[in-house]
Amino acid sequence: MVVNRRKTPTVWVGRVPIGSNHPVVVQSMTNTDTADIEATVGQVWALARAGSEVVRMTVNNDEAARAVPEIKRRLTDLGVEVPLVGDFHFNGHILLRQYPQMAQTLDKYRINPGTVGRGKQQDPNFRTMCEVALEYGKPVRIGVNWGSLDQSLLDEMMDANATRPEPKAAHQVTLETIVESAVRSYEWALKYGLSEDKIILSAKISNAPDLWWVYRELAKRTPAPLHLGLTEAGMGISGIVTSTAGLVPLLSEGIGDTIRISITPAPGESRTKEVEVALEILQAVGIRQFTPSVASCPGCGRTTSTFFQELAQQVSRRLNDQMPLWKTLYPGVENLKVAVMGCVVNGPGESKHADIGISLPGTGEAPRAPVYIDGQLATTLKGERIAEEFMALVEDYIQRRFGKPVVE
Ligand code: SF4
Repeated sequence: MVVNRRKTPTVWVGRVPIGSNHPVVVQSMTNTDTADIEATVGQVWALARAGSEVVRMTVNNDEAARAVPEIKRRLTDLGVEVPLVGDFHFNGHILLRQYPQMAQTLDKYRINPGTVGRGKQQDPNFRTMCEVALEYGKPVRIGVNWGSLDQSLLDEMMDANATRPEPKAAHQVTLETIVESAVRSYEWALKYGLSEDKIILSAKISNAPDLWWVYRELAKRTPAPLHLGLTEAGMGISGIVTSTAGLVPLLSEGIGDTIRISITPAPGESRTKEVEVALEILQAVGIRQFTPSVASCPGCGRTTSTFFQELAQQVSRRLNDQMPLWKTLYPGVENLKVAVMGCVVNGPGESKHADIGISLPGTGEAPRAPVYIDGQLATTLKGERIAEEFMALVEDYIQRRFGKPVVE
């Protein structure tokens, strides 16, 4: 799918460009105690390895602020160059001033207009954070969240609404306040010296239809690159589906320059799940390609053994596991299309559409599995070792098609 992206300035977060026509960037956030250096380094490493191109961590107290430079140093020693973002609430203006090494180390600061300070303190605190960003040449993300919406602005907009001849519903005024908070903060950041190529905006909410409205308004009202995501999308299938429903319409309209999936991991579940979902969403809408795609049918009464499901799972797993290495050895391998099909009904047809595909024998069919390569029948596998032999054919295909030519 060709998506015409919204025109925005490019904001560099460390070595990663966000906005304009640059690829939509995947980000994630740690859930370790930032002061626990070892745990945080381990999780940032895992998130980056899973495909996160920017990682955010909370910087909520002195210990966390002190830990940031050491976290960066250890990651650099491990060869992990992923940009790090500091997430600040309530005391960011103090920490950024008190810990210059931390301010220098981070690649971006997140400012929440709803938690930056109250009443008379809101403006000076916000200003301080912008000034530190300016001093160190860092970009900021002004991140509004409806769970911590600027209460004084909400009161102001509710009061103004009450004087209208036909007042709007309170929910609509809340949505308008979310947008207004982001837009006003953007203007203040410009007033305090940050340039357009140093500001990213977000305005998060936890349901999809409201997210569409809010981001379409933001896209109309500001030129800033937009960080797109729901907040508190939930757990498991529900969180994944809600996130997908929230992001896909906007991404397909060219709205959204970087995404983060805010799903709650089940106890013991890897934090990298949010990165996997983000990659899958971008890949499913055709905006970016990260791993080879595996087309497999759902199976039906013609696939009464689990062999077909096992092979589809094995192929996907092998491709995903090998990608970190293959990306360097075989440029373009992420565009590979594999098909693993359950029977003769759609098997040969789907396999011919793939670069390499196998049509397994359904129940009652002769135990033979034709393999198609580049649309042509290449061989037919039989016997106990169909899975291993098919994987060997896939790897051979990858080497031939994506391997760098050997110079004699
Ligand atoms: S390809 Fe065959 S096994 Fe797969 S869903 Fe269709 S009919 Fe069923």
